[in-house]
Amino acid sequence: MIPDTDIDFQSLKTTGIKVNYLYVCERKLWLFDRGIQMESKSDKVLMGKLLGESSYPREDKREVLIDNLINIDIVGDDEIREVKYSNRMHHADRIQLLYYLYYLKHLGIEKRGVINYPKMRKREDIILTSEAEKEVESALIRVQEILRMDKPPQIQKKPYCTKCAYYEFCFVGEKT
Ligand code: SF4
Repeated sequence: MIPDTDIDFQSLKTTGIKVNYLYVCERKLWLFDRGIQMESKSDKVLMGKLLGESSYPREDKREVLIDNLINIDIVGDDEIREVKYSNRMHHADRIQLLYYLYYLKHLGIEKRGVINYPKMRKREDIILTSEAEKEVESALIRVQEILRMDKPPQIQKKPYCTKCAYYEFCFVGEKT
């Protein structure tokens, strides 16, 4: 069943990575959207990709790209799965997978979500409850608000700034 919603999903839909970045850092989301895509060089992202490629070699349906917006690691009969390197950004990984479930529901497909952390030998089930749907909708509205800003949101120091691909960009002035 398509979610009963007041938002205009067609105008708000975006990529999974942008929904993820909203929960990581609003400034990072804005910089990424403006084409400053330094993250692709990140060793962690590369390692996550390698982990994803080596951890589930027998899956036959993998890396499904839908509408050029959401790129699901693994699609099974009843569930979709994302493979993550660590749970350091758990809150962001969770909203990204909820968004995927929400997106699929709009296409008339209802599944469960699972986040796999193969390095930690852990998995987490993610269910799109009606509360979670509201959270996704709030996130989509916030993503649009951020992307409409003329300037990037202010720097907000976070524990993981030093590991962020934009660290130099944000803090280069502070080191001198
Ligand atoms: S370095 Fe920190 S403030 Fe700058 S984009 Fe990354 S997480 Fe955000």
